[in-house]
Amino acid sequence: MEKPVASITVLGSTGSIGTNTLDVLARHPERFSVYALTAARQVDLLLAQCLRFNPTWAVMTDPDAAKQLEERLGAEGSRTRVASGADALVEVAQDERVDMVMGAIVGAAGLPPCLAAAQAGKRLLLANKEALVVGGDFFMSAVRQGGGRLLPIDSEHSAIFQSLPEDPETWERRVEKIILTASGGPFRTRDIATFADITPEQAVAHPNWVMGRKISVDSATMMNKALEVIEAHYLFGLPASRLEVVIHPQSIIHSMVQYHDTSVVAQLGTADMRVPIAYGLSHPERVVSGASPLSFDALTGLTFEKPDPRRFPGLGLAWAALEGRAGSTAVLNAANEVAVDAFLNRRIRFDQIHVVNQETLSSSWDGETDSLEALLALDGQARQRAASVVSAL
Ligand code: NAD
Ligand code: MG
Repeated sequence: MEKPVASITVLGSTGSIGTNTLDVLARHPERFSVYALTAARQVDLLLAQCLRFNPTWAVMTDPDAAKQLEERLGAEGSRTRVASGADALVEVAQDERVDMVMGAIVGAAGLPPCLAAAQAGKRLLLANKEALVVGGDFFMSAVRQGGGRLLPIDSEHSAIFQSLPEDPETWERRVEKIILTASGGPFRTRDIATFADITPEQAVAHPNWVMGRKISVDSATMMNKALEVIEAHYLFGLPASRLEVVIHPQSIIHSMVQYHDTSVVAQLGTADMRVPIAYGLSHPERVVSGASPLSFDALTGLTFEKPDPRRFPGLGLAWAALEGRAGSTAVLNAANEVAVDAFLNRRIRFDQIHVVNQETLSSSWDGETDSLEALLALDGQARQRAASVVSAL
């Protein structure tokens, strides 16, 4: 029997994950059709993507960019309609004509449309880890109530998901711990005494992966791994004490699950995001991703080391936030978004990112986590607090 075509919205289609997603989709036109593509303000690239994939909708959060896109699509005779603003992102994420949503926006800005997709029962492919770090238990209960499926796209979480038994009911009973691997980023061996001199250009040059600027800085501080520990807690339901991180500079093992009998199950592959993207799109099937297979002849060795807390002080904040009261992970995420932005704009030094995160997390704040509005208010409050830490530095 022929499989019906799945209709997909790609939130953040012009980014690193977005373009990789379209690359995989283009390999399987008989399986997928594109309902909507969205971007913040990259008109040229979104225009090219619309002409190639003919979505029903293109959404740009920036109204001027949307206007430009509309004119240029019109001049090309395209039938793609254009909308703008954050509400339009929610619309194309929850529309009844959509089966799957790829969440590939960066930062908490992706929370409202990802949550809308979850509530509407879509298959949600989640690359946008910040949405889950902010949304936490509220997000996971929205997934359950919506009756859809949340599939991780982050390579570590896809690896863990692939290494876990199929039935989530058995995870807590069988699994001893989850071990996330980390590359260690560009500064794994750099003299710590020179961390204050690190420039944004050096921080975004990741040795193994080509990614957006924000996640690249997060990889350099290992705040990316901290966010991923939090993401793993919410996705797989294990307490913080059963989540571990090991540095594995080759990025061949993408993460592991250790069972009670000490058996470790891992997922391996080349460092190419099209693999977890293809898995999310086709689960439980497997389709061609475009990635090159591992060559065991060329592999020289897999090494492992413990993360040094002096080099990567931010990593420990994941456990601090998970052990803190509800909302702590949202506060930490907001602080980090503000700190990374300040670093990229040369307002603070690389080593001060941690100062902003730590001070914001340990400052007093209040707020609820039981609705989208409450979460956004908490996010706003933490951003203000972090901005004042930045100003005082
Ligand atoms: P990116 O910066 O390359 O792309 C971000 C996309 O989101 C772009 O399309 C941009 O136009 C859009 N966008 C940015 N700000 C927005 C806003 N305020 N509102 C609406 N849209 C906005 O980022 P990326 O590297 O593709 O990462 C996307 C997400 O995936 C992040 O959460 C990141 O942590 C996660 N992720 C990325 C990788 C990777 O290899 N790049 C791997 C794992 C997880
Ligand atoms: Mg990752």
